[in-house]
Amino acid sequence: MTNDIYAAFPDRPAFTAGLTPAQLARYEELGTNLEVVERRIADACAAAGRPREEVTLVVVTKTYPAEDSALLAALGVTDVAENRDQDAAPKAELCARLPLTWHFVGQLQTNKVRSVVSYADLVHSVDRARLVDSLSAAVLKTGRAPLGCLVQVALDKESGEGEGRAGVAPDQVLQLAGKIADTPGLQLAGVMTVAPLAGPFAGDPASAFDRLAEISTAVRAAHPAATMVSAGMSSDLEQAVAAGATHVRVGTAVLGVRSPLR
Ligand SMILES: *Cc1c(COP(=O)(O)O)cnc(C)c1O
Repeated sequence: MTNDIYAAFPDRPAFTAGLTPAQLARYEELGTNLEVVERRIADACAAAGRPREEVTLVVVTKTYPAEDSALLAALGVTDVAENRDQDAAPKAELCARLPLTWHFVGQLQTNKVRSVVSYADLVHSVDRARLVDSLSAAVLKTGRAPLGCLVQVALDKESGEGEGRAGVAPDQVLQLAGKIADTPGLQLAGVMTVAPLAGPFAGDPASAFDRLAEISTAVRAAHPAATMVSAGMSSDLEQAVAAGATHVRVGTAVLGVRSPLR
């Protein structure tokens, strides 16, 4: 017997009974990995004196098949992230009935914006004024609910290094945040960063995430509702939680090491 793994709100025993042996093995593997990540987040929250509910696990499913997203949803994952529209759009369509919030975390070209706003609930990688205008136009055209936007901060641009990498320099965050807040169809949700590989914070994610927390405080002073702090991946989620992250983006630790071919 096989079942429809993309059906909404699966009945758990019936769901697992209807999986193929390969699907069941993957379901159990993902469940074990999720338990390990959940324990890491809970321990990091306890160490920081923060309630566990302050941190949302966003599972980064990029390069993995839609089937994994469905198994994750059945395991109780509520938030998934993708970084390439070409992969994300067909997955989101297959998973449309599942209770998943979709985060877009990759560099976003304006020619992909219409597609991304058709499935993404939040875009973490807003890094230029032209992208803000383009997102707004697409949201207004489709008549969808306002799109949550995070300003991606490039902490390696602090010293003028890292030109060309995704994200805006710290001294430009407030300006771009203000533009998002003033633009119809968009909601300023917060800030995001990836621990930099170059510049003064290279190899020091704890300091990088402390700097992001300072930037978040400045943004919230002007925009109190922009509370999201998206930081931390498989290798540095503890440092991110310690620095106040509200959303950690974890791929490898849940799904496994990605194929270098993709
Ligand atoms: C891939 C990716 C992640 C997850 O990284 P892992 O090291 O696999 O946990 C997080 N954030 C962004 C922006 C990514 O592209």
